[in-house]
Amino acid sequence: MNLGDRVAIITGCGGGLGRAMAVRMAGLGADIVINDIPQAEEAANEVAELVAQLGRKGFVALGSVTSADDVGAMVEQVMNEFGRIDILVNNAGITRDTLMIRMSEDDWDIVLDINLKGAFLCTKAIARPMMKARSGRIVNIASVSGVMGNVGQANYSASKGGLIALTKTTAKELAPRGITCNAVAPGFIETKMTEELDEEVRQEWLRSIPLGRAGTPEDVADVVAFLASDAAGYVTGQVLNIDGGLIM
Ligand code: NAP
Repeated sequence: MNLGDRVAIITGCGGGLGRAMAVRMAGLGADIVINDIPQAEEAANEVAELVAQLGRKGFVALGSVTSADDVGAMVEQVMNEFGRIDILVNNAGITRDTLMIRMSEDDWDIVLDINLKGAFLCTKAIARPMMKARSGRIVNIASVSGVMGNVGQANYSASKGGLIALTKTTAKELAPRGITCNAVAPGFIETKMTEELDEEVRQEWLRSIPLGRAGTPEDVADVVAFLASDAAGYVTGQVLNIDGGLIM
């Protein structure tokens, strides 16, 4: 796999998976646009430093994926800085878990806004430059919850199921311009997001994974890098589970 001189935008890049993907892709030769919210500036700068240590440019672009203005400004900055966008990874995502009967409208709205609308706004914003270039790779970070549903995650599973449907529509609309769009559906991966789970839920997840371990951010980063590379040029509209065999 080679991502030599590609420019990759990764949203929510200060988090666990974002950081691993930035390092993996920079290691394969890509410059990385590190997007996250302003409150995560310190984490974003750390990722930029890791990318620089690999000899690539780490360009921090702070802003919320839920704001069309922020996303537009980010794309403009990236085009001014690099003149191209080859890869978009829609990774920004949050959880607000609770049983549906207790779930507030705010819990629903914020998760749908960040996880699904955010991906729509970013995809829409990069579509033009990618269409002009007649090439591009979009990878959406969904979740096994979006494939099989999950107790306590009505908002999250709906957002990720929606993201999978968005992936397929994006793939169909942009295929004539040589752009691919795929999703990955990670299972239980060790990051800040899963640290918040209580021990009982954690053990229940682990018992249901045939490979017998939680995934690492690097497990996800490897598959995302593949989908972003030339090696996956004939793969589009697919959902790849990265879950140790949880869903078969
Ligand atoms: P994480 O460490 O919490 O990273 C998510 C990042 O997104 C954080 O840096 C977060 O910033 C940022 N973010 C939040 N709101 C944003 C916004 N409006 N605009 C831009 N960035 C925003 O979580 P992660 O585990 O790396 O998750 C990354 C992706 O993988 C998510 O889409 C998640 O749903 C998905 N996923 C994770 C797992 C898992 O087991 N970890 C499994 C399946 C899917 P703050 O931290 O400052 O809020």
